[in-house]
Amino acid sequence: MEIACLDLEGVLIPEVWINFAERTGIDALRATTRDIPDYDVLMRQRLAILEEHRLGIRDIQDVIAGMDPLPGAAEALGWLRERFQVVILSDTFYEFAEPFMRKLGWPTLLCHKLEIDAAGMITDYKIRQPDPKRASVQAFHSLRYRTIATGDSYNDTSMLSEADAGILFRPPQNVIDEFPQFPVARTYAELQAEFAKASLREL
Ligand SMILES: [Mg+2]
Repeated sequence: MEIACLDLEGVLIPEVWINFAERTGIDALRATTRDIPDYDVLMRQRLAILEEHRLGIRDIQDVIAGMDPLPGAAEALGWLRERFQVVILSDTFYEFAEPFMRKLGWPTLLCHKLEIDAAGMITDYKIRQPDPKRASVQAFHSLRYRTIATGDSYNDTSMLSEADAGILFRPPQNVIDEFPQFPVARTYAELQAEFAKASLREL
């Protein structure tokens, strides 16, 4: 049995914070882990900015609902779901991902959670576990599943290494240079071909 493990942002949907910053015009929200490597510092800054602009979860979800999955993503996901058990492993939060999940037909998503108060303001966030993508692949292995994983960035590389086969999807050049062991797919057709190649079955 094989499980396809998919990163979400950069593979099926655009980068949520960058797009959210563009849609709201709040430039300070454009910062990513490339600017602020400490994820906790980055998230605290983001939550402070949201509070400053009095943006609650409803406002945020309204903005996110106006964004679409990447062109061709729904079809590629459908192709994979016909051939594998598919699990999306993401460092996003359920509350941010929800509008995208609706558009993608509610695939299985393992990610993190926000804490929201009665007024709908985000007060905190809960990371499910350390190195969650790698831990998920290890858990699937303990259930006797073979895993094929794909992702676009640094936070996916431990998952790609742990999986039986790892595929980079539209990665930046520095990730390609640093992880030459992984094949690179730049279109969904190439990604499907890499999954077919990595599978032990005839697809
Ligand atoms: Mg990504």
